[in-house]
Amino acid sequence: MNKIIVIGSMATDFVVTTKVKPNQGETVFGEKFDTNFGGKGANQAIAASRLGAEVAMLGHVGTDRFGNEIVENLNVNGVSTENVEPVTHSPSGAAHIILHENDNSIIVIPGANNALDLARFSEIKGNITEADLVILQNEIPQEANEAIIDWCWEAKIPVLYNPAPARKLNPRMLSKVGYLTPNEHEFKLLFPNQKLADVLAAYPNRLIVTLGAKGAIFHNGKSEVLVPAFPVAAVDTTGAGDTFNGALAVGILAGVPLENAIAFANLAAAISVKGYGAQGGMPTLKEMKESPLYEEAWGIK
Ligand code: ADP
Repeated sequence: MNKIIVIGSMATDFVVTTKVKPNQGETVFGEKFDTNFGGKGANQAIAASRLGAEVAMLGHVGTDRFGNEIVENLNVNGVSTENVEPVTHSPSGAAHIILHENDNSIIVIPGANNALDLARFSEIKGNITEADLVILQNEIPQEANEAIIDWCWEAKIPVLYNPAPARKLNPRMLSKVGYLTPNEHEFKLLFPNQKLADVLAAYPNRLIVTLGAKGAIFHNGKSEVLVPAFPVAAVDTTGAGDTFNGALAVGILAGVPLENAIAFANLAAAISVKGYGAQGGMPTLKEMKESPLYEEAWGIK
């Protein structure tokens, strides 16, 4: 079986729903409190694992109880955590989300996710050699991401880089990334003042821009291809991009044409937005195949 290694973040989301937002120094009563598992790295690892891939996670949690639960949740979802190391000097990653009047404000504490620095990467890089594909996001230090991209390039291991949340990238890295998957907002930050059509044509079969409910677009070397999203009644689009990336990795490793891999990823993401929470709606391969929208012609076994 093909092996995916996700090097990235793991976190707990602490979600508070409130009708009133406290002012400075004020205490208020809210309506609801939930915890969800999150972190783009963990989300993408679980998305790929549910779709049948062999997936290992590489990164850090704290030695607190949240770290234990994060690791347990990865294991329950079939993701190997041998290379998830607890660190004593930082808490586990956490996102504190306030939902108020259908909008949200979020404070992210990267905590242990920032422990994956250059020094740590040089200790663990031997563990990456067995990967058929490495997935990265922007929730570990950028210097580590860049070292990983350089190293994978030398080792001829393709990298799927989801540059989210938006952060600038050394343009030197672009030539070494196998697949780059920004959403429209991230695209604008990475390629300021450049036209989408021009940039897509400059990175054929490698740059895939996700367009929310419109789907995703890339250039196949001859022309631009818009792979349309599947129309569904979305209840929570948190994690749509993460499901898309995990599924895209599975499609790419299945060796099917990129357009088919993107259609597969669009369907996984469409199914995921019908469920609550980033991981709540992520489908298994069986659920995908049971969907009337699934196409055998994509060639994904
Ligand atoms: P992000 O979640 O990173 O902001 P997008 O909003 O571009 O990324 O969504 C990623 C993918 O999720 C899209 O390419 C599409 O396949 C799917 N998607 C997102 N929103 C919807 C929706 N409302 N209906 C169906 N599919 C959706």
